[in-house]
Parts: sequence; structure tokens; C-alpha cells
Amino acid sequence: MIIKQLMLGEDEVFCYILGCEKTREAVIIDPCGEEDRLLEIIRELQLQPAYIINTHCHPDHTCGNAIIKEATGAEIVMHQADIALLNDPQAAEYFDRHGFAPSPPADLAVDDGDILFFGNCQAEIIHTPGHSPGSICVYVDGNLFTGDSLFVGAAGRVDVPGGDFNTLISALGDKLASLPDDTIVWPGHDYGESKTSTIGREKQKNPYMGGEW
Ligand SMILES: [Zn+2]
Ligand SMILES: [Zn+2]
Repeated sequence: MIIKQLMLGEDEVFCYILGCEKTREAVIIDPCGEEDRLLEIIRELQLQPAYIINTHCHPDHTCGNAIIKEATGAEIVMHQADIALLNDPQAAEYFDRHGFAPSPPADLAVDDGDILFFGNCQAEIIHTPGHSPGSICVYVDGNLFTGDSLFVGAAGRVDVPGGDFNTLISALGDKLASLPDDTIVWPGHDYGESKTSTIGREKQKNPYMGGEW
């Protein structure tokens, strides 16, 4: 499988391109700015995006949805709880304040355990609420794309609409800690000394997963 980690946009969010080497079908996780550059790389890799998966609905992670969908025809995928959050007037007003390009409505709502196929690869949805009610991690062949749920040595804020600390800690402990230790963690921001980690390392070092610095 092809994996590209790109830091895009003013908020320095990680966008990921995942591609099937054989069929060239692809998934874009969190298109977050610099769409021309992203499209150029997709073209260079000769990939055909089938899905845009948003790890959650925050505008810094969804601001590229409109342009990438328009250019590639890929379907926008979000967890149903974050689709609902976007429809909440108070939350929507909070998100609008940040001045990012709004996302078109999601084409596909997903929930825990759902699987999306791209070529010979499969992306499994793991619901990890807490940073937002519909935050998800995407598990693909030993790789875990964690959005703002889990960072290297840290975890996402909970002082945002729908955020909840205890929910986040349970999700990390129940859903992520049980994955194999060698699972590669690909976070949504670079808040650590490294741009990737593993579940084993986070269990040892990350206080949000019961570890110690
Ligand atoms: Zn966020
Ligand atoms: Zn973020």
C-alpha cells in the first residue's frame, strides 16, 4: 500500500494519501489546504481517490473537501455523530468563526466497524469519540490514522463543541490500546518529537494511554 504523509495548510494538519499499488484506487484522509499541491501529488502517483475520509468534522481537517471532491469525484465520509454536530447551530457557529472553507455535506455516514474498500485494501473505521462525538481512527493494514484523537505523546483537546475528556480516555483505552503494539500511529498534527509512533510506544509514554513520560 502507498502511504503519503503531507503537512498542509496554515494549521499544519497532516493529510494522508493511501493508495492501492495494484488498482491505483485511493483514499484521502483529511484534505486540509494546499489543494493544488495535493492534487499534483495524487496525479504524480497516478491515483484515483474513491473516498475522502474526515477523521472528524473540525474545519482545519475538512477545508479541502470541496475542492478535492470537485476535482476527483471522491465521496466524503464522516462519522454520523459529527455529521449531526455540523447540523447543530451552536457548534456550526463556533466552527464558522475560524474562517476555513466549509465542507459540502458528507456523502456517506460511517460507524464503528464499517469497512471501506479501495482496490485491494480495506480501511476499517474505529469510533474514538472524545475530541468530538464522531471522531474516528482509520485502520489500514497495521497502520492507524488517528486524526486529533491520539497524537504522539498527547491527545486532542476536549474544550471544543461535543468534546469530553472521560469519553476520550475510554476510547483510547478500550479501542486503541487493544491493537497490536507494532501498529503504526499516524497522527493528525505534529505535536511530538516524531511524526509517527506505534501503539506500543504510546502505551508506554503517552499519559492519555496510561503511560508515563
Ligand atoms: Zn480537531
Ligand atoms: Zn486538528
